[in-house]
Amino acid sequence: MATNLSYDVLIADPIPQNVDALVPNGDHYMWSPQSTTLIFGEHQAVLVDPPFTTKQVHDVIDWVRSSGRNLTHIYITHGHGDHWFTAGVLADRFHARVVATAGTIELMHREVANREALWDKLFPGQIPAAEVTATPPEDNHITLEGHSLWAVEVGHSDTDDTTVLHVPSLDLVVGGDVIYNGVHQYLAESAGGGLRKWLEAVDVVESLEPLRIVAGHKDRNLDDAGPRAITQTRDYLRSAEELRAGCGTAREFFSAMSERYPTRLNPTALWMGATALYR
Ligand SMILES: [Zn+2]
Repeated sequence: MATNLSYDVLIADPIPQNVDALVPNGDHYMWSPQSTTLIFGEHQAVLVDPPFTTKQVHDVIDWVRSSGRNLTHIYITHGHGDHWFTAGVLADRFHARVVATAGTIELMHREVANREALWDKLFPGQIPAAEVTATPPEDNHITLEGHSLWAVEVGHSDTDDTTVLHVPSLDLVVGGDVIYNGVHQYLAESAGGGLRKWLEAVDVVESLEPLRIVAGHKDRNLDDAGPRAITQTRDYLRSAEELRAGCGTAREFFSAMSERYPTRLNPTALWMGATALYR
């Protein structure tokens, strides 16, 4: 008989980017808060989306160890390095298997190729050595103490070929960067029709009817209510479409979005998107 599952979330607080310029509102460049999720039964656990710095992964190791569970799998929702660069450290430490869809694995290789030019410039000396060791899940799922955890491919969201992990036993979706929660959404890869595709990805998540969603980037003061996170993610994307059509410059777009979403965390993410949408 299957045991009951539970989940827990560890949030890594925003860290500064190594950038001298300021965001138009005067902020220093920051990274968004990041969520790592542990889904666990009586004895075993599956971890979703490890963080990306050596310091952050030490916190995750302590957290997994204190759960008392045996970590069997590490699932990566999408290729962006901030969601997996420490996967190898965790896999070695806990003898766990790294799992991702074929589309994610392809993007992981691209991130490794981009690492020196991008990631190590923004976060010098902070990211451990990272190799792609992930393999696709058999029949698109991972088994945890008799329960199935489903890798659901949703296409483009904040990058291409993204996925969520659906845990029907918990009415839970671990949403990666498809669903955001109280944090500015990263629109930098959504020029030329990407916002529309992202809206379609949100529809796929909604069709799973999750009561709870763990957003890859969430405000730690907000709960995981699924319907609210879906509505707010969709609303933000529709606003971005509307204001991209109505604003003449990246700065205008940034100001208009900031005014509409004054409580969302990390305007840096909005500014990175704005500059890309007007390039
Ligand atoms: Zn992402």
